[in-house]
Amino acid sequence: MYDQLEKLIRLQELDRETARIGQKIAEIEPQIEETRLHLAAAERALEEGKAKVESTRKDRRTAEKDLETQIDKRRKFQEQQSKVKTNKEYQALMGELETLKVAETAAEDRILALMEGQAEAERLLPGLTAEVARERAEFQQKEKVLRAAEAQLRGEMAAAESARGAVVATLEQVSLQTYQRIQRLRGNLVVVEAREEFCLGCRTKLPPQQFMEAMSNSTLKACPHCHRILYYLKPEIGASPAAPAEAAPSAAAGSADAGPAA
Ligand SMILES: [Zn+2]
Repeated sequence: MYDQLEKLIRLQELDRETARIGQKIAEIEPQIEETRLHLAAAERALEEGKAKVESTRKDRRTAEKDLETQIDKRRKFQEQQSKVKTNKEYQALMGELETLKVAETAAEDRILALMEGQAEAERLLPGLTAEVARERAEFQQKEKVLRAAEAQLRGEMAAAESARGAVVATLEQVSLQTYQRIQRLRGNLVVVEAREEFCLGCRTKLPPQQFMEAMSNSTLKACPHCHRILYYLKPEIGASPAAPAEAAPSAAAGSADAGPAA
């Protein structure tokens, strides 16, 4: 085979290899990010749990102060009890005291409810804390594994790039330019097999003359349809030496393989 053609095939292998590795490296960061998000969600839930405890505690303190104020107020009214002179004044004072007592009971109920709320919020904290620890351990473990995989891939990438550089160094300028021109148009499928008179790049039938030229592997021959560079591989000769090469296309369709037994 023409050495430039051979080298272009190798170059293409390496280009596909580096693209494949590059793709895998690109997938690593999002995977780490996803686990990081799980950890962040657990941390947020814990923070919210702590804030809930704190806010119920504050509300309780406020309610307790309100109750103290109310109790003071009631005591002052009670002290006045001995000073009232008329029955009407006494009635008014009793009414006032009754109202204050109702308000006190309501304040006490509110404090109880807030204490329960606080206790409930506190009960949730150990579970939330454990969840953060679990997510953090999982994140650290996953990150470690993924970073190791990334380092491995970067090593493979460096090797492939170095091999690619070595191939490029031995390529003739015109071969490399042709390859790069097609690559810009067609991606990493530049050099393709011509088989059974078809270009396997675009699946179009080649004119007999073009196919004959491709079969020779002696030059950089482009497919007239997709302009990819063609090469030819001799069909694998099966166990049947009698089968002529020309018969291969139709025989290949039927996989019954009567040949080998004979
Ligand atoms: Zn083609």
